[in-house]
Amino acid sequence: MTETRKTRVRFAPSPTGPLHIGGVRTALYNYLYARQHGGTFVLRIEDTDSGRFVPGAEQYIIEALAWCGITPDEGVEDGKVVESASEKHPYGPYRQSQRRSIYRKYAEQLVADGWAYYAFDTAEELAARRTECESRGQTFIYNQVSRKALRNSLTLSAEETQRLLSETTGWTIRFKMPENTVVAMDDLIRGHIEVNTDTLDDKVLWKRADELPTYHLANIVDDHLMEITEVIRGEEWLPSLPLHYMLYKAFGWQDSQPRFAHLSLLLKPSGQGKLSKRDGDKLGFPVFPLRWISPEGEVTRGYREDGYFPEAFINMLAFLGWNPGDEREILSLPELVDAFSLERVIKSGARFNPEKAKWYNREYLRMKSDAELAGLYVPVLEEHGVEAAPEYVQRAISVIKDRATFVADFWTAAPYLFVAPSEYTPKDVAKFWKEDNYGRLSAVRDRIAAYSGDWAVSAIAGYLEGWIKEAGWTLGGVMNCLRLTLTGSASGLGIAEIIYTIGLQEACARIDKALNTL
Ligand code: GLU
Repeated sequence: MTETRKTRVRFAPSPTGPLHIGGVRTALYNYLYARQHGGTFVLRIEDTDSGRFVPGAEQYIIEALAWCGITPDEGVEDGKVVESASEKHPYGPYRQSQRRSIYRKYAEQLVADGWAYYAFDTAEELAARRTECESRGQTFIYNQVSRKALRNSLTLSAEETQRLLSETTGWTIRFKMPENTVVAMDDLIRGHIEVNTDTLDDKVLWKRADELPTYHLANIVDDHLMEITEVIRGEEWLPSLPLHYMLYKAFGWQDSQPRFAHLSLLLKPSGQGKLSKRDGDKLGFPVFPLRWISPEGEVTRGYREDGYFPEAFINMLAFLGWNPGDEREILSLPELVDAFSLERVIKSGARFNPEKAKWYNREYLRMKSDAELAGLYVPVLEEHGVEAAPEYVQRAISVIKDRATFVADFWTAAPYLFVAPSEYTPKDVAKFWKEDNYGRLSAVRDRIAAYSGDWAVSAIAGYLEGWIKEAGWTLGGVMNCLRLTLTGSASGLGIAEIIYTIGLQEACARIDKALNTL
């Protein structure tokens, strides 16, 4: 690769279902790398495996990237995959199924150059081979050895080959993996790797049946045509790397071959095994960025709907398998762009920690202004039929913010800041509501009504506590039943925080109501 090439990286998902968070991390690292190098981040949809196509998956991928703020520079326009080449998207179309006419000639070129061959074995014939091998305790592999006894253009006569090519449609083009050759590869994360071709099989590159390339051919051809400089992808593609190196060699494209970086897998919280799509439901946290509703109607939860902020989600993901090499843990997207480097991406699997995800959300929640949070909280309040003035909502948020992980927690933690209790928890009433309450609470009520100090939690708290002590009462004895009148139960925020939010008049009204009903 010549050093002068402009950085171009791509995220190349297959629309086979919702994008797993591991996929989002791959997209994120590509994005960070592109931004840092002043390059281009391309989205390419790899949908040549029609059997695995899932409706809605492509739109999900685009929406998920947009929510995360890692939108591609090329390949997507107005939330849709670009379907033809244009000035801004010169390498279009970006959906492989719309590029099908491109691939055949490359596969044929490999046959002409002796790097590939036509294979005519039917699915039944191959299945029979497999069964036969299994009966001998072996695994069937279509490779340098077995190809010599199979029906392909290397074993059949030229006439027979021509006849089968024109009269049948079940044939494929397979890569002719050279014998006993060392493939020497370099990975930006894993370093130097060598593999002997004798361990590799002859992969199908193109299928006459649907006139479509397989992943390997389409991926290499497109990375070449789209002038990709670095391929940053998941570790599951590392076993394909020798074939990809061989394909670059076979096409004579070594000089412009991209550099490769294979990212380690995300592991389950236990560290045992890879984090799978099913783990979310089993372990109680989302493994998808957005909620996914399958074509069959099955609903799977997502980070967005669970109440995560995209900035927190992205920050958490960036640190799964990478760190900036210093103490910092909170980095915005632009800061991540500055700090990111492939050299600091770890080789071993990154253990997913759902508690850390929550920690990130709490940190980001705390960094937001009360005004911004109020804007996010209003829809939640509306869902509960509550209407409140913006200043009031902000005041409530200021007292509850430190106890929340998600915006929805504002409500679950203290609905009584917006709605007066309509009933009182019987267990708490039995425990705290004593005969002599009436006199004490009436006195407290009058003291609250008379408050004229600073409108601050600490000032209100100081006033109440000072006065209760002066009266010779225990704090616990008064506070628990006071809280019962204000919130409906004995647990909740501090009395001063509640009064600070709801105001003197409302506090007194609630005490009066309790005195009249309990
Ligand atoms: N289509 C492949 C996938 O779904 C892309 C692999 C690659 O980036 O080369 O992961």
